[in-house]
Amino acid sequence: MTESVVERIVVPAREGRAARVTRGQRFRVVDLEGSQVGDLFAFASVDVGEFASAEHTRVAISRLFPRVGENFVSNRRRSVLTLLDDRSPGHHDMLCAACDPTRYAGLGATGWHASCQENLQQAMLALGFQGVEVPQPINLFMNIPVHEDGSLGWEPARSQPGDYVELRAEMELIVVLSSCPQDMVPISGGGLSALVIELLDDLVEDLK
Ligand SMILES: [Zn+2]
Repeated sequence: MTESVVERIVVPAREGRAARVTRGQRFRVVDLEGSQVGDLFAFASVDVGEFASAEHTRVAISRLFPRVGENFVSNRRRSVLTLLDDRSPGHHDMLCAACDPTRYAGLGATGWHASCQENLQQAMLALGFQGVEVPQPINLFMNIPVHEDGSLGWEPARSQPGDYVELRAEMELIVVLSSCPQDMVPISGGGLSALVIELLDDLVEDLK
């Protein structure tokens, strides 16, 4: 079996995009240029009050982040996504809240600064969903080591150009990906860049 990309959604630096993913469909999040953090959110299409939940996932897997083959679960403890493959150094975060205007104001930003919170809200608004919950994201490629004394490190993402994670939707989903605009804490190494969502379709090869 091989696969083909049926849709390719570019998520420009500092912006967010939504994609509808059917149950059983696989998709990849690709770090085009490397070292770019991506905040991933997943909502049940039939009821956006159900979404991928970091805190419920940590309980379900007894880890800080799923390993390949493990699931992300919802705030109703149902399976939302399976991590199928990880072609990156494997550093991802599921502890940190999405960046938002208050976070940037606290860091000293003057005037408007793009944020993952606004990117999520705008992407959902474009689909007709107003005032959705802003869940704690699945922070792909984000390198936040937890030290022995309990402190967190804020390290640059180590993903290389073309690195990706592959996931499978376990229910009908709206996924939103934000190319994190965080440029005041150096979590995206070499400047901000675009990410890509690749929706995949399985092609069964002819048996010879
Ligand atoms: Zn962000």
